[in-house]
Amino acid sequence: MSARPVLDGVWLVASGTDEAALTDPHDCHCYLLWDGDGGFLVDAGTGLGAEQWLDNVREVCDPSRLGGVLLTHYHADHAGGAAAAQEAGLAVFGHRLTAGALATADEGRTQVARARAVGVYPPDYRLRPAQVQPLAGGSRVTSGGVSVEVVDAPGHCDGHLVFLVGATGGVLLSGDCLFSGGRVGLQAIPDCRLVEYADTVAALAARSPDVLLPGHGDLVLGGAAQAVDRAAASFARLVPPPNFLVAW
Ligand SMILES: [Zn+2]
Repeated sequence: MSARPVLDGVWLVASGTDEAALTDPHDCHCYLLWDGDGGFLVDAGTGLGAEQWLDNVREVCDPSRLGGVLLTHYHADHAGGAAAAQEAGLAVFGHRLTAGALATADEGRTQVARARAVGVYPPDYRLRPAQVQPLAGGSRVTSGGVSVEVVDAPGHCDGHLVFLVGATGGVLLSGDCLFSGGRVGLQAIPDCRLVEYADTVAALAARSPDVLLPGHGDLVLGGAAQAVDRAAASFARLVPPPNFLVAW
């Protein structure tokens, strides 16, 4: 499969579901930001499809010209490919909790052991250690003309970050924090925190993003503020919004 252009300067280069950009069924969506001069990859998949997404990146740019890989969170479908990215010469950045968990490939902290036990990952899948350089919420990273704001977004798990490109009305790369239709990513895991989630979504609604590029499912290429507002309004009524993951 190949890099699928989704917006000016943005490509979907890995996915577990998108037919055009499919890398491995266990992978999240990974996005390439590239302005002809520099850029970033957002998320790294499980690692199972890393050869393919590296080829997809090469269709667009020389990976060595990227500023690195930005990880939204430490779940293996987003961060498991960090080791492969590093082996390909890319610097990897993430929250300090993500850095700590990946330094030792901590399958407890990241819930990989629990997810593998229930069939989310193949039985022989193992998280591989990687060196992640810490990123703090409120900071900004730049490469070429691509400038990315780093925003703390706990709730789906501890240390979750989202990335904003452009000011108000820009692009929100939301990882597993927000999905199309204003759905959220609640799971029965120890570090999924409902009240922090509500605060995160309220803060993101105030940013009124026009585009929502989530870690799974449909991309929202316009009018995304409506979806984010809907989720925030639900949380404001003390009711968790509908979940992206459905039980039946
Ligand atoms: Zn996740």
